[in-house]
Amino acid sequence: MKPTVFERLAPPDSVIKASLEGSVNRPFWLDDVGERPSYPTLQGDEQADLVIVGGGFLGLWTAILAKEREPQRSVILLEGHSLGWSASGRNGGFCDHSITHGEENGRTRWPEEFDQLEALGHQNLDEFEATLKRYGIDCDFERTGVLTVAVEPYQDEALRGPDYLSAARIRAEVDSPTFLSGHWRRNTTAMVHPGKLVVGLARVAGQLGVRLFESSPAKGLQEVGKGMRVSTAEGSVTAGRVVLATNAFPSLLMRYRLHTIPVYDYVLMSEPLSPAQLASIGWKNRQGIGDMANQFHYYRITRSNRILFGGYDAVYYFCGTVDPKYDNRPASFEKLASHFFTTFPQLQGLRFTHRWGGAIDTSTRFCAFYTLAFGGKVAYAAGFTGLGVGATRFAANVLLDKVEGRDTERTRLRMVREVPLPFPPEPIAYPTIQAVRWSLNRADHRDGKRNLLLRTLDALGLGFDS
Ligand SMILES: Cc1cc2nc3c(=O)[nH]c(=O)nc-3n(C[C@H](O)[C@H](O)[C@H](O)COP(=O)(O)OP(=O)(O)OC[C@H]3O[C@@H](n4cnc5c(N)ncnc54)[C@H](O)[C@@H]3O)c2cc1C
Repeated sequence: MKPTVFERLAPPDSVIKASLEGSVNRPFWLDDVGERPSYPTLQGDEQADLVIVGGGFLGLWTAILAKEREPQRSVILLEGHSLGWSASGRNGGFCDHSITHGEENGRTRWPEEFDQLEALGHQNLDEFEATLKRYGIDCDFERTGVLTVAVEPYQDEALRGPDYLSAARIRAEVDSPTFLSGHWRRNTTAMVHPGKLVVGLARVAGQLGVRLFESSPAKGLQEVGKGMRVSTAEGSVTAGRVVLATNAFPSLLMRYRLHTIPVYDYVLMSEPLSPAQLASIGWKNRQGIGDMANQFHYYRITRSNRILFGGYDAVYYFCGTVDPKYDNRPASFEKLASHFFTTFPQLQGLRFTHRWGGAIDTSTRFCAFYTLAFGGKVAYAAGFTGLGVGATRFAANVLLDKVEGRDTERTRLRMVREVPLPFPPEPIAYPTIQAVRWSLNRADHRDGKRNLLLRTLDALGLGFDS
């Protein structure tokens, strides 16, 4: 197989090892916000109009939007661990307008409504920004856009178009010897600090009157009269309506357990760059960056001039469990550090302070699906597949439309009405996914050429991504 640029120009092992020494295995973002308010455990039996299960971005946005729509409605949110501890506190902080996991996926699956999906996605990002301003949520929101870069000659073709940047022009934006060409989509994406966003959304939800509970995992969902009861170890909430926002964790709706699988993604955060280090790579306009292979990297700069560098390995563990033991994967961290110094050889000597992993809720269509259960009393969305920072806010609106029984532009979308095919159960899932991962890696070493397995899955509209 043909070696990739990251294999051809790999730095010495000593550089990789030194850069990771002393890094801690926990998400930077939550560390960076310091002491956070904590919320009580649910004890005893409570009543509400709406109960939300899950306290990541999806649950928090649902809580805020529910109160904004109807301030008198009583809303309880139950988080099994602590607010935002999972994907919402571990991501890259790319807040994209796309609600379809990018243009290619959206255009291929829903060509007739793609323009509408794009417009709704832009509207969502504008409203996202306006909400932050309205409530004074400071989460380092910077609408700097995103650079997509070709690092192998075969990737150049897909970038040709009005925004095309030649090697010289892309390297004038950010100076990496791996960049062959690129484009800059300016208004489509913002960078955020996910930890600060979690804290800010939780504060606003509390101020609007949402009752937030942590360490309160929902164990069961039961129909009682006209409502539903959600039970936890020490209490329960009886409510007219339920929204399930549990992401990569096992769904409380058994029939959707195979509609997502947890895929682990790994991330490094560097120490702050000195002014000289920053000058050596340019990066004045502070865009997010993504490269283009099947196994891709995403990287961005933080307000304090650290670099977050993540992606490439997307790991599925047998039986699809979410488990803290998977947060540490030395082989992935070493690979990321190696690829980082191939991308920025000028930065040799820079150290990483944090390394972590997190579960992504992958669906076979790469973007969220939306369902109702129990005669319309329970709404559920999952499957954001690595692009949920912005899309969870759109999904929150869809879930509220659905659970309120409203017929809206959103609920009429084919994207919202269709539910994707599930993944196969174990023991079939693991070897199938390994075969797909092997094929994707092979394609990355063969100028992007896809083998029969990938072409078949493409034709069926199925796949595996992060
Ligand atoms: C490493 C990584 C990098 C990523 N990078 C990006 C990026 O740059 N841009 C982007 O758009 N997306 C990115 N994503 C994806 C994005 O983070 C998610 O799509 C988004 O955070 C999903 O939010 P959520 O609220 O649905 O899920 P989560 O944040 O996972 O929240 C779900 C919550 O539900 C709780 N829960 C589960 N079951 C129960 C239960 N039974 N009872 C009570 N609580 C329960 C969990 O404890 C958890 O807190 C990334 C994800 C990862 C892991």
